[in-house]
Amino acid sequence: MKVVIVGGVAAGMSAATRLRRLREDAEIVVFEAGEHVSYANCGLPYFISDVIAMREALLLQTPESLWRRFRIDVRVNTRVTAIDRDSKSVSAFNSITGESLTETYDYLILATGAKPRALEVPGGERALSLRDVADADTLKAATVGAKTAVVAGAGFVGIEVAENLRHLGIEVTLVQRGSQILSNFDPEMIEPLQAKLVSEGVDIALGVEIASIESNAVTLSDGRTVMADIVIAATGVVPDNSLAVSAGLRIGKTGGLWVDAQQRTSDPNILAAGDAVEKLGELTGDQTLIPLANLANRHGRLMADVIAGIETEAHPALGTAIIGAFGMVAAVTGLTENSARKAGIEAQAIHVHPGSHAGYYPGSKRVSLKVLFDPQTGRLLGAQGVGEDGVDKRIDVLATAIRAGFTVEDLMDLELSYAPQFGSAKDPINHLGYVGNNVMNAVTPTLQWHELDTALASGAQLIDVRTEREQKIGAIPGSRLIPVDELRDHLGELDGDLVVHCAVGQRGHIATQILRSAGKSVRNLDGGYATWKSGKDALARTKG
Ligand SMILES: Cc1cc2nc3c(=O)[nH]c(=O)nc-3n(C[C@H](O)[C@H](O)[C@H](O)COP(=O)(O)OP(=O)(O)OC[C@H]3O[C@@H](n4cnc5c(N)ncnc54)[C@H](O)[C@@H]3O)c2cc1C
Repeated sequence: MKVVIVGGVAAGMSAATRLRRLREDAEIVVFEAGEHVSYANCGLPYFISDVIAMREALLLQTPESLWRRFRIDVRVNTRVTAIDRDSKSVSAFNSITGESLTETYDYLILATGAKPRALEVPGGERALSLRDVADADTLKAATVGAKTAVVAGAGFVGIEVAENLRHLGIEVTLVQRGSQILSNFDPEMIEPLQAKLVSEGVDIALGVEIASIESNAVTLSDGRTVMADIVIAATGVVPDNSLAVSAGLRIGKTGGLWVDAQQRTSDPNILAAGDAVEKLGELTGDQTLIPLANLANRHGRLMADVIAGIETEAHPALGTAIIGAFGMVAAVTGLTENSARKAGIEAQAIHVHPGSHAGYYPGSKRVSLKVLFDPQTGRLLGAQGVGEDGVDKRIDVLATAIRAGFTVEDLMDLELSYAPQFGSAKDPINHLGYVGNNVMNAVTPTLQWHELDTALASGAQLIDVRTEREQKIGAIPGSRLIPVDELRDHLGELDGDLVVHCAVGQRGHIATQILRSAGKSVRNLDGGYATWKSGKDALARTKG
């Protein structure tokens, strides 16, 4: 059996090495247009500032090492230019030798990845992008002597590049068309990272685009001019599907290559995976583009299984992702409140802000978590987290819980490892379960931060149940202070539609119980002042 693979990074090399482990007799040829194979593109931003100082550390394999261990015939600097499905062959061109060649296949694997979206504005050709090692070399060279940079696009790559340019002392403006950085988070959940970037000297320009690029500056769509020795285009990626299109393979509505659950394209002898293909979203049932390394690797492996005759299917994708910058971490899995709304999926949100580990053990940091669940069944639909510590493990637990089909109440019973330096006897995950349980059983009716203004305008009374000291540091306009310990003395004064809030929601829950026992109509502001403040700060940032 002869298998030809186009693209020698995540999906392509996962397929090649797995296939070798399954079939010692298969002939495996990999064509890679670039100079390097199997490189760590996720590490590229950190090479720019020498956080990863050794370039070789990014080069995980070489054609020689792959031949030695796996007998995989890797041809670098060789671009596949056409597929002839009738003769089951590909044409390729070696950019170093100038040689053109043809290779036949029994199975063809397309793992061509995605291309950075070009900045289509006057002067756009000046913008650098970051996809491969050669791009990283170019960007690193451009930073020498540079004082200013504009990064277009505040997605994962744009933020990582901005952080690393700041490490080099370069003034950075991060330009984002949308109303917040990282559009795959809800605004109140990404605000702490936005604030962190700003405090570290990243100038974030929201709601604007680059209109044109001049020799040492860019002009923004609002007319502002920003100095820019370097311009980086990080406005997202588009599936690199030109080969597939020319070969007449089916392209999905998303622009990604269509594949079935076994990663077969519309031609059963051609399989595809990675950033070039669309994936089935687990929670929406829609086809979607999720350009992430973990999915590229696992679907690469799966293609080898399918070719080797193993019965298997790709599991739909959640889109679990994480980013860290300047010590702040944000992670997401499944649906956000925004994406659930767009998909027409009813979702109840809860927010908690516990410590990353027991408060009495040094170094505990606030970890802010939000989960979404089906208000009827409790089934978990999504989670987001932000903080300086402990975010990664909580989101990974929640991603696992969503995959397992757990309800929010199942989180109460998860038995998670605990010692004071790692967590709490009631881990933040269990805490989410308790809050969800109270919401599911209508023990504590809640109100979201973005619903508060409407409730107040309709006559609701807002009671701040924190202490006077806390209130002095920051208060929600229109609130009346009655600390929770004094609430029972004021029951006679409180009537009508009541909303209570505390710092994070916990004392608000106690206050809700006291007021409900007294026959009052009351809701607790979910996530308390902390969530409300983050949401309002995010909105204020958008308005500039
Ligand atoms: C800077 C950066 C940081 C990232 N960080 C993360 C992260 O932290 N976490 C995460 O999950 N994901 C991250 N990603 C995304 C992740 O790298 C991709 O999802 C993953 O690499 C996709 O794998 P792939 O095999 O589909 O494509 P790629 O890794 O892009 O590989 C495709 C290869 O195909 C080659 N090719 C294309 N056309 C041809 C042709 N006609 N002939 C021969 N060769 C061809 C290309 O040269 C390329 O090397 C990052 C990406 C970048 C660029």
